[in-house]
Amino acid sequence: MTQTDAGWVKIVGLGPGNETMVTAQVQEVLAEATDVVGYIPYVKRIPERPGLTLHATDNRIEIERATHALEMAASGKRVAVVSSGDPGVFAMASAVFEALEAGKPEWLNLNIQVLPGITAMLAASARIGAPMGHDFAAINLSDNLKPWSLIEKRLRLAGEAGFAMGFYNPRSKSRPHQFGRALEILREACGGETLISFARDVSKPGETITTVTLDEATPEMADMRTVVIVGNADTRRVGRHVYTPRFAKEG
Ligand code: SAH
Repeated sequence: MTQTDAGWVKIVGLGPGNETMVTAQVQEVLAEATDVVGYIPYVKRIPERPGLTLHATDNRIEIERATHALEMAASGKRVAVVSSGDPGVFAMASAVFEALEAGKPEWLNLNIQVLPGITAMLAASARIGAPMGHDFAAINLSDNLKPWSLIEKRLRLAGEAGFAMGFYNPRSKSRPHQFGRALEILREACGGETLISFARDVSKPGETITTVTLDEATPEMADMRTVVIVGNADTRRVGRHVYTPRFAKEG
């Protein structure tokens, strides 16, 4: 095997935060890697050891980070690209493939694999009960990479179609007003009695889960450490749990 053949890129999900929720497969990759690449808070989760170089970079430079990972793998390094949750959900896996598409043709022969992790929406759903027990949609509420008008359209149509929904990146300091608008659209599309849960720091110290109706929900209930779960018209409480039945009436 040549030095180049020995290199690889494995794009791994670290789960929502708790170390027991990192899969054994991902732990193996982290033990074999020579280099770890990712956004600063995620790379901080990787313990240092001899033979491992950590490359922590700021957010919003995903393509440079992905290109760097591919370059290192082409020179024989074993590179783990880390994301929180699942790497295929609003995270690094797509960025690596974008960089591959724009990169050197010989990179197409590299050993590139995506290893799944537990995404925030499903970790939160499990804590809440079973709000995603029927059909659902996952929507990123950040308009960094798409126009806000498209987000409004998807929210409205998913609500009208009766999907339960999981919202990532719901409300940041740089766009404080959009989540209030999202709540307005949801009230119109789903009805004010629909249940909405705010799951903050899921699986981490200080985790909080709050369930209210859309009429009771206020924008301040969400921030960037929160994943928001909206049920459909059938989603209901049973004791301390919230669930969506597996059946649905004609739409
Ligand atoms: N790839 C990640 C999502 C990255 S987008 C995944 O699959 O989970 C970042 C957003 O994910 C945050 O703004 C928040 O909405 C959500 N998130 C990630 N970890 C979370 C956690 N532990 N608790 C609540 N929300 C979380």
